[in-house]
Amino acid sequence: MAVFRKLSWFFKLEWKAYSLGIIFLIFVAALELIPPKLIGATVNGINEGTLTKELLLQLAGALLAVGIANYVIRYFWRFYIFGASIRLGRLLRSQLYAHFTELDQSFYKKNRSGDLMAHATNDVQAVSMTAGAGILTLVDSVTMGSFVIITMVTTISWKLTFFSLLPMPIMVYLTSRYGKMLHTRFHDAQSAFSDLNDKVAESVSGIRVLKATGQVEADVETFTDLSSDVVQKNKRVAKIDALFDPTIFGVVGLSYIIAVGYGAYLLRQGEISIGDIVSFTAYLGLLTWPMLAFGWLFNIVERGRASYDRIEHMLAIEPEIQDALHAGDTVASSEIDIAIERFSYEEKPVLSDIALQILPGRSLGIVGRTGAGKSTLVRLLSREYDVTKGRITLGGRNLKQLKRRAVREQVAVVPQDHFLFSESIADNIAFACPEATMEEIMEAAKTAAVHDDILGFPEGYATVVGERGVTLSGGQKQRISIARALLADCPVLILDDALSAVDAKTEERIIEHFRTASNNQAQVIVAHRLSAVSHADEIIVLEDGRISERGTHHQLLERGGWYKETYDRQQLETLVEQGGGTNES
Ligand code: ADP
Repeated sequence: MAVFRKLSWFFKLEWKAYSLGIIFLIFVAALELIPPKLIGATVNGINEGTLTKELLLQLAGALLAVGIANYVIRYFWRFYIFGASIRLGRLLRSQLYAHFTELDQSFYKKNRSGDLMAHATNDVQAVSMTAGAGILTLVDSVTMGSFVIITMVTTISWKLTFFSLLPMPIMVYLTSRYGKMLHTRFHDAQSAFSDLNDKVAESVSGIRVLKATGQVEADVETFTDLSSDVVQKNKRVAKIDALFDPTIFGVVGLSYIIAVGYGAYLLRQGEISIGDIVSFTAYLGLLTWPMLAFGWLFNIVERGRASYDRIEHMLAIEPEIQDALHAGDTVASSEIDIAIERFSYEEKPVLSDIALQILPGRSLGIVGRTGAGKSTLVRLLSREYDVTKGRITLGGRNLKQLKRRAVREQVAVVPQDHFLFSESIADNIAFACPEATMEEIMEAAKTAAVHDDILGFPEGYATVVGERGVTLSGGQKQRISIARALLADCPVLILDDALSAVDAKTEERIIEHFRTASNNQAQVIVAHRLSAVSHADEIIVLEDGRISERGTHHQLLERGGWYKETYDRQQLETLVEQGGGTNES
């Protein structure tokens, strides 16, 4: 029951709803006690021949009144208790959501977002259930159970009560056990089903590879295996599910046999009346639910506790990058000074001895082999990670002394893995500045050389992107992402290999637009194709996390190192490609 204590903050918050809900629940429990008495009185009246028409009408009227009152009050307790539990679900969901948006890349590298979502959904549901059905079963099993037993003992016979209730604990034990087994098996069935789903999703998206490699039959076999597994596991669920009813009816039936058998004996002894036996059996019927609720309660509480622990654990994870105590939120200029002695994710140093300066209105090109540390440098510049040894300053201020939000406002990054939302193209471009005018959006799209493409779509800028809209090529997506970053107009713009999917000519146009746009922006361009950085004021070549070459395009060509070799090779490749025509992926 510790979970109820842990949730006490919520019960305090919603004390009104819970107090009213519980009062109504107790009312219902008390009302339930009346009908068996009325029926007993009717039977006694028949038996003794004292039942008049008026009395019968009175009894029937009372039964009706109790029924109506019950109907109304039941509505209210549900409204209050389940209403509150739904609000708890909403509260936890928004807390988790807000928290997830605060966490940084390193968290999402360690945790798969699909798993996070599934857990969050199930856990929130389990805790919300504890605050709803958990409270209901607790109150009902305690109040209703004790009310009925007290009424049986005091108004009928303690002996009959004692013997008739002997089988009931068996039911509590068994149903609670089945509940646990059902939960585990249900989980297994669910995960078998998600395995099947994952498999189908993967096969459908890789259908071409499957066909090309002649693996279709093997794939169908795997599918059949997985799908029989789902059937097996669901059968196991059904087997337990099927045990509930026979157990309940069996145990309750046993109680009835004792009640009627022993009741008849007591009747013969003159200890109780025939009406008492009728009322008693009706009370026994009323006891079934509180007993079931009691068994159910333990399962709900146990699941709720495990889920609440997981939610608490998740909420306790701190983002690795935190705002310093007196972190500033403005910078004097967009001048960047990089003095990294060393940076490592784990043990191995990824960047060493990087000393650079990027002035406003100037550009820096970063090139090098895959794995050389280019993206890492970008991540440090946008403060996805903090420099281990050394520092990066923006406008004279150490990034660590700036609020994360301030860094985001100063530095716009167009990442390699661009992301567009299922909204219109205009909204996607204006994502960081929703108040932008259509002219500004178009201006950004023109600079990113995507304006003409957009006009070619069925609804121009209003065309919706994604599953329910138009499918864009990789290059178009990249250019829309660039337009988005351009519109944000941050003092620092970083393109992290953001031109990889556009053809050489389009790249040239974009670079040209960048060059001529006379502004004070500091630009950092990471690229695989050297033509994307050839115009930059300074170019660095990274090799194993160190600067191996630096200078302008011409200086580097003259130097005759990796840069020149790569440049010559790429020029040749372009010539060959142009011979065969260019293609945008
Ligand atoms: P590039 O962008 O030049 O291809 P990266 O900056 O992505 O290079 O990677 C540099 C090195 O850091 C590589 O050896 C890579 O394996 C490693 N690395 C990159 N990201 C991580 C990470 N999140 N955790 C651990 N190692 C990483």
